[in-house]
Amino acid sequence: MTTMKKVLGIYGAGSDHWVGDGFPVRNLFPSNGVNAEINPFLMLDYAGPSHFEPSKRTHGVGQHPHRGFETVTIAYQGSVSHRDSAGNSGTIYPGDVQWMTAASGVVHEEMHAQEFAEKGGTFEMIQLWVNLPKAAKMSAPRYQGITKEQIPTVTLGSGGQARIIAGELDGVSGPAKTFTPINVFDLRLKAGFATKLSLPDGHNAAVILLKGDVALNGSEALQGEARIATLSAEGEGILLEPKEDSTLLVLSGEPIDEPVASYGPFVMNTQEELVQAFQDYKSGQMGHLS
Ligand code: MN
Repeated sequence: MTTMKKVLGIYGAGSDHWVGDGFPVRNLFPSNGVNAEINPFLMLDYAGPSHFEPSKRTHGVGQHPHRGFETVTIAYQGSVSHRDSAGNSGTIYPGDVQWMTAASGVVHEEMHAQEFAEKGGTFEMIQLWVNLPKAAKMSAPRYQGITKEQIPTVTLGSGGQARIIAGELDGVSGPAKTFTPINVFDLRLKAGFATKLSLPDGHNAAVILLKGDVALNGSEALQGEARIATLSAEGEGILLEPKEDSTLLVLSGEPIDEPVASYGPFVMNTQEELVQAFQDYKSGQMGHLS
């Protein structure tokens, strides 16, 4: 008999704000106090769903640096173009994922794709920040543009699907290369069909509700939109009982047992490394966009 992970808490967004002029986000951690219990994940912004009028100008966020972690962008509606100082670029469309490893440092821009700006429409994305272990923080930057065709789907009983972006579920592995053991699953559940989702014992975990109504472990209600339930590291899964059709993002990861020092776009292990990151950015060592 397996033990379920316990629900530690259920939270709404701790803040809502604009990132640049393209991303009206609700922050689901750490602004609400969810922090160490979700290690190795650092931050999650849920952008939209928001309507954008057709525009000649593309909206987004201009050049800015990152060092020491990864930014993962999951597109639900609309499209985003990325370009960075390591020479990588790409546009992601609904169902696609951009997994950008800043590591030793990049300068990048994240903009609505030109074609989306021209047509307008509904925009909905998630951006997740994943910490890197000390040994990888100063490694070379990397970019994984993952298309929806590359993401395998696991059928959950008769009433749901999980797209495996990273990690493994029921023997099916996702395409994202990660530095530590991580699961990222995009779940679409149909009302009335319960699912026991396997998650590794020892992984910190969370269930993020984009929209819907799901009972967790037969009791706790995760309902509405833009909410997060944090789960205990102990236990091997979670029982999901959707009362409505629901869209969820499930995260789990082996905690990185190292100190975290963070300041804005830099996440290192010590204050000295943060100062160094800032100096390296200022002196142009993270490069420039042409
Ligand atoms: Mn960024």
